[in-house]
Amino acid sequence: LTADVLICGAGPAGLVLGNMLRADGIRCLIVERQSRAHVEQRARAGFLAENSVRILTENGLAEGLHANGKRHDTCAFRGDHGEFELKYSELGRGEVHTVYPQQDLVRDLIAQFIDRGGEIRFDTTVVKVDPHDAVLVLDDGTTLSGRFVAGCDGQHGVSRQAVPAKVLQRDHGVTWLALLAEAPPSMAAVTYAIHPNGFAGHMARTQKITRYYLQVPQGTDATTWSDEKVWAELHTRLRAHQYGSLKTGMIIERRVVDMTSHVLEPIQHGCVFLAGDSASLISPSAAKGANLALMAAEVLAKALARQINSGDSQRLTHYSAAVLPRIWRAQEFSHWMINLLHSPAGDDGHALFMRSLQRARLESLRDNRAHQDYFAENYIGI
Ligand code: FAD
Repeated sequence: LTADVLICGAGPAGLVLGNMLRADGIRCLIVERQSRAHVEQRARAGFLAENSVRILTENGLAEGLHANGKRHDTCAFRGDHGEFELKYSELGRGEVHTVYPQQDLVRDLIAQFIDRGGEIRFDTTVVKVDPHDAVLVLDDGTTLSGRFVAGCDGQHGVSRQAVPAKVLQRDHGVTWLALLAEAPPSMAAVTYAIHPNGFAGHMARTQKITRYYLQVPQGTDATTWSDEKVWAELHTRLRAHQYGSLKTGMIIERRVVDMTSHVLEPIQHGCVFLAGDSASLISPSAAKGANLALMAAEVLAKALARQINSGDSQRLTHYSAAVLPRIWRAQEFSHWMINLLHSPAGDDGHALFMRSLQRARLESLRDNRAHQDYFAENYIGI
């Protein structure tokens, strides 16, 4: 056997899992298609929920996060109705986000995993997973064998092909241009703007980098959005004439993200267990993806440790049943957020009806404490 647990993918799911298994003395090997430099620079998520911070802290993985992460406790909604803020640290369970760029977290997790005696093979692609014998076939034709395979290889990975699952899916019919600007945040709060031209979002990442989103037509070519066009549209939709100009800078990443979601059921088969984006893809509307990845990694690590160290299979047998309800809670809220933030353009009866619903929902969120508590609990909760 190469290792007890073979982990496909060195994203947040695979790395947290690997670190937790190493802490329990379990032999594991991570296989990652990309180079170390690539995964340590891949900017994606940033908003970590309290459950994620707890998982990282309890497992000795949060040094960088605590040193450099920034607390975030307020979001704002802008639209025809004006602007209102929700300070979610004072609503619901009183929880907050910690903003820490995903690539920084990945860098910390790789260093820790290697420190704990873990092995990662970078620049190595898994081309096939055998769910019965826990064998990985690699791109150079060689094989690795283990007792268990953790499929943490994201939405385009191969391990999900080893799980004969039903794919429950939805195309939300909305597309975002995801942007990273080399510019400081322009506002203290995460800001969601609802505008006749479409949605725009502002999310701080670091003192020097800000993530923005612009709703664009499906099929948009990101390269047609010059820096000038991006800033002009952000100024319009975020209503800079009313609330103040944005701090501009070079756009260092622009990519089109279709709001689609899917969930595999079940997320385990034979010796293969899926965690993170390989098990379920969630639209980025509520910033849940990395948080779900960490949640599943923790559940799987504990189940595998129990099986390998004590021969108790109970938790592993019920892994899928334990994780799926939590995935669905996040999917439900994400879907709710999509409806809150988007409505059809045009002035036909359907579009006007949907925009009136959207307005009523925003007004309720602005005025109704019970609605605000629901929002806060689900916005941070997993
Ligand atoms: P990944 O991070 O995708 O890691 C999978 C790894 O497997 C990759 O390194 C990949 O190279 C590797 N791999 C793939 N195939 C193979 C193979 N065949 N062999 C070997 N290795 C393979 N989430 C949040 O919680 N909050 C946010 O604020 C947020 N913002 C986001 C913004 C954007 C623009 C995007 C795109 C996503 C965002 N997300 C956010 C989602 C989050 O980034 C993902 O949900 C998260 O990365 C999932 O982690 P993972 O470990 O499951 O998968």
